[in-house]
Amino acid sequence: MSSPDLTDAEREAVLQVLQGTALSMGPYIHQFEEAFRQYTGLPYAIGVNSGTSGLHLCVRAAGIGMGDLVLTTPFSFVASANVMLFEKAVPVFVDVDPLTGNIDPQLAAQAAADLSAGGSDARRWLPRRGWDDGARLKALLGVDVFGQPADFDALHQVASRFGLHLIEDSCEALGAEYKGRKAGTLGDCAVFAFYPNKQITTGEGGLVVTADEKMAHMILAMRNQGRAPGDTWLEHTYLGYNYRLDEMSAALGTVQMNRLEELLQKRQQVADWYAKHLDKVEGVTAPQIVPSTTRPSWFVYVARLDRHLERSLVAARLAERGIPVRPYFSPIHLQPYMVEQFGYQPGDFPVTEDLGRRGFALPFSGVMSEEQVEQVCFELASVISQA
Ligand SMILES: *Cc1c(COP(=O)(O)O)cnc(C)c1O
Repeated sequence: MSSPDLTDAEREAVLQVLQGTALSMGPYIHQFEEAFRQYTGLPYAIGVNSGTSGLHLCVRAAGIGMGDLVLTTPFSFVASANVMLFEKAVPVFVDVDPLTGNIDPQLAAQAAADLSAGGSDARRWLPRRGWDDGARLKALLGVDVFGQPADFDALHQVASRFGLHLIEDSCEALGAEYKGRKAGTLGDCAVFAFYPNKQITTGEGGLVVTADEKMAHMILAMRNQGRAPGDTWLEHTYLGYNYRLDEMSAALGTVQMNRLEELLQKRQQVADWYAKHLDKVEGVTAPQIVPSTTRPSWFVYVARLDRHLERSLVAARLAERGIPVRPYFSPIHLQPYMVEQFGYQPGDFPVTEDLGRRGFALPFSGVMSEEQVEQVCFELASVISQA
């Protein structure tokens, strides 16, 4: 489905770490974080061992806890909602824009108004069970889906009107821009992720950026077992975690960050080839970008199948021809543990479910050739014409 883009420079950087003795908490984590301060222009960049742990630290630093409500999207990778469950907070889903798959800011505004007012209007946004009377709306967590930033100006308005923390899950969007501003700079804090299919990789890894000094202080401490500045190795001011990023990963990531523009350009090229060749394939729609606001950064390439075509059949036929495709995303509210805890049912978020039924990720990475893209599109057309 995807392939990391690595050169000798990455291999040499990792080897250099292994020739020394500092395998964690050494110089490379600082270099890696500095690259993100430079890139985003934000004063704080904090490397962590996954995107999920970065999101969890944002949730904790925002003071989100037991019973608190957080508005977010069901059309995402599960981690963006799970981090609320880690703190016994309640993700309150609102449906998404059918074009971009990003959280619908008008629905979020309506939900925030009703939830803040309380009473019976609040009920229609809440899940069937799994929340307490008197629960307070605390935050809004938006996700930059597939590398296209959510409409953060509108989300920011909602957040400031109702006094909410605004968290940006930018794990799929390193390199993207929204109205000329970089993804990752659009909320109170934001998270990038570096699993091998992301725009840059550290193997496993993530990073939090923020301009908020207090949040940065808490996140720094909590990533390191709750040690505040001045605490010794066995002093722990706060409840924390081991969410540190090791030096091999940081060294790898620093080289990848140096190559960011090159990596993004190669991915854009592959996406352009897909757009060109998919144009001739009937029954399939290429990903939709809002050109007036978005400079995308391609994470995955998710096409949509027309409603009359059966995706599982198309996927099975493609697999027989050696082309892997994946359904993308599988709606979060219909995952078994979410259904069990909150009582969600099919039909609760129709746009998310429609996109979830029709979306499929095609093989995608910056190292694909135009011939490979053509082959995928050729096989896709041939499978669809038989279906
Ligand atoms: C990749 C990703 C994450 C974080 O994933 P990790 O595997 O924990 O690094 C979080 N949210 C979204 C939307 C993602 O795509």
